[in-house]
Amino acid sequence: MYEGIVQDLIEELGRLPGVGPKSAQRIAFHMLNSDPVDVTRLAETMLQVKRTVRFCDICGNVSEAEQCRICRDPRRELTVICVVEEPKDVVAIERTREFRGRYHVLGGAISPIDGIGPDDLRVAELMSRLADGSVTEVILATDPNLEGEATATFLARLMVGMSLTVSRLASGLPVGGDLEYADEVTLGRAFAGRRRV
Ligand SMILES: [Zn+2]
Repeated sequence: MYEGIVQDLIEELGRLPGVGPKSAQRIAFHMLNSDPVDVTRLAETMLQVKRTVRFCDICGNVSEAEQCRICRDPRRELTVICVVEEPKDVVAIERTREFRGRYHVLGGAISPIDGIGPDDLRVAELMSRLADGSVTEVILATDPNLEGEATATFLARLMVGMSLTVSRLASGLPVGGDLEYADEVTLGRAFAGRRRV
């Protein structure tokens, strides 16, 4: 335990995802030893992100405007939607250059253990995007783990009876992992080999 503000900093850092007490302490002392200019830049970037970045009205991706860059791009196909859990998955799929449609970011996956149900995700927003029939294909690109599979199954059932091709990324992705950790080639292949559900 340290005095006052140093302890506060360690506690704040320790609340970040993936940062345990030891890492929090290491980062705090790194900051204490850093050039004030570097620490100021970090703090200002963090504030700037909260002030300026929001979520796209259409797809839920991070965006600096009402609509994100992808939704605003007229060259992207309007007929295909790729459903992902998090904005970082959009980045991973964009890197493969396999996909020219639009995205829908759910904001997580169904996880009863964590108390996350469909109502906590952007499921209603997805269904309303599909309502007018202009979308003809939905690719379910949730993570290849238990929660991701449960979410894909749930969404596929919701779409039964709609005039849609619903597909899931092909196997070959590391099971139990996160989409974002798949390398570009593997993810690209999984995309190309997606199968109907
Ligand atoms: Zn968007």
